[in-house]
This record gives sequence, C-alpha cells and structure tokens, in this order.
Amino acid sequence: TGQTQKWLQQYVDDWVAFYRKRTNDGDVASYIPALAQADPDDLGISIIGKSGMTVRSGDTDMSFTLQSISKVISFIVACMECGVSYMLDRVDVEPSGEAFNSIMHLEMQQVEKPFNPLINAGAITVGSILPGKTSDQRLEPIFQLLENMVGYRPKLNVDVYESERDSSMRNRAIGYYLLETGFLESDLNVTLETYFKQCSIEVTIDDLANIGMVLANDGMNIKTGEAIIPRQIARIAKVLMLTCGMYDASGKFATYVGIPAKSGVSGGIVAAVPPRVRDEPMPFTDGCGIGVYGPALGDEGNSIAGIRLLRHIANQWDLSIF
Ligand code: GLN
Repeated sequence: TGQTQKWLQQYVDDWVAFYRKRTNDGDVASYIPALAQADPDDLGISIIGKSGMTVRSGDTDMSFTLQSISKVISFIVACMECGVSYMLDRVDVEPSGEAFNSIMHLEMQQVEKPFNPLINAGAITVGSILPGKTSDQRLEPIFQLLENMVGYRPKLNVDVYESERDSSMRNRAIGYYLLETGFLESDLNVTLETYFKQCSIEVTIDDLANIGMVLANDGMNIKTGEAIIPRQIARIAKVLMLTCGMYDASGKFATYVGIPAKSGVSGGIVAAVPPRVRDEPMPFTDGCGIGVYGPALGDEGNSIAGIRLLRHIANQWDLSIF
C-alpha cells in the first residue's frame, strides 16, 4: 500500500546516502580502460516485487555493462540450447576459491573441466559450446533471452567491447590454455569475441532487477506470465549464483546476505530473492529482484558499497533464503 511504499522508499533513500559516503575504500576496475571512467561515488538500487511494487533509489539512471553477470545468462542459454547434462559434462558446478580470472587451477592435473561457468575459464568454455559460427550468431539467443527478461533488446557498448578486446591478455591466456587442454568446443577467436561482447552488453539497475525477478520466480516473467527459462535451469543458475556468484567472496556473501546474486566488474549486482514465509510481516515476502550499481570494487571484484547496502537491507527485511 501507499504507506508501506513510502516507508520503504524513505528507508532505502537513507541507506543509499549512508553507504555512498563510504565508497572511498574501493576502486573502479582499471584493467579494462573503458571501465576506469566510472564515478566511484555512484550508487543506485532498484527493487522490483512480484506485485509490481518498486523501490528505486540513488543513481538509478546509469547505464553500465553486464560484465560477469552475462555469464549467468550465457550459461542459461547454453543449457536451453544444448541440454543441462551436456553442459554439466563440460563445466563443473564447484566454487574455485580463486579469483575470477585465475588460470592457476587449470594447471592442476586432476582438473577435468573448468570449476564453474561463472569464472572466466568456465564462461569462455560455455561460449565455445554456444551454437553459431560467428560471435553475433552465438549472441543472438543471449540478446533474445535478455529481451524476454527486461522487455526490450539491450545494446552492445562498442567502446567497452573494443577496450575489453584490446586489453584481454589474461583472457587470451586462459583461452589458449583451454584450447591446449581440449576443453574448447570451437574456434578460439570466435569464442573470445563472443565472451568480450556478452560482457559489453549495456543495462540499467531496473534491467538487473527484472532479471533477478525472473530467476526468483524459477524462470517465469511475472509481467508477461510467460515461462521463459525452464524451472530446472533457473534453479541451477541460482545455485551457481549462491555458491560462485561473488567469486572468492561467495561464502562471505552467503553468510552475511544469504541471497543468490551475481556481480560484475562494472559494479553491477543482480540478486534474486525467492518468495519466503515469515511469521512477522516483512517487505517483499512474495519475492523480488534487485539490481545494484556501485562501481568502486573491493579486492575480489565486487561492488563494495553495493554489498554493504544489500547486506543491510537483507538483514533488515530478512531476505535470506536460509
Ligand atoms: N570482462 C571481464 C573479464 O573477463 C569480466 C570479469 C568480471 O566481471 N568479473 O575480465
């Protein structure tokens, strides 16, 4: 109701203002030059509930690129195109405990496949499996799924794509390693181009909230009533987000926040809060999707202010899935 909405809005406004002031201990990603232009003080959040109730606060109109958040989407698409068991034979679903761009674990003799689809090695492998000869053909179902989730067809940010492509030594190293070990299913250059492009798709926090909402509802778009992701695949996506979504800070995030979420080095976070039963009246008990943007990152490559804000709200509103 209007009263609740007003109260929630005031609450979120206050905490966005509070956490924005404390971002000065993080840094924007600079290893991709185009991302270094972001303003480290920006902070915004969008929360969309099942009933349509929406709370938006802070820097709500910024566009930014999906970066690693795209890995969830490409994995879902690959599962839809090639089948879950085919994919799980080729990428594992275990946290790596290493940084997102680590090549270290690939060298270990006993590794039979990349640890999970949300680290770079796994995501690049997924990109090599997507059907299509060219990177644009492989991206088409990714754009299509995004359109079904957010309601319009997002655009590629060409500046970020080129910047990413031209500063991609580490990802190329990972790619060559995957090629050598036989993990890649198709041409390395097309695969890397697919990966750089999927990372460079531009979104807003409202888009992320809508994506979170679809996942929270096991693949159903509440606005259109359409089942756009099979339930089993949406569930695996949430498992991966919970166990691997915040890289080597995933355990801490699950402990202190307790929501399936995925971050990207542009500063975005998507979170999926499923419906939950509570004795006390709590906001958004019928589930919600949350999008956050805060480009100042901590050591693990996650938005510092974004995580603090999410943690605060999750604790106050008892959003944890546990
Ligand atoms: N494009 C980035 C990279 O490959 C994505 C990493 C991220 O968002 N953590 O380095």
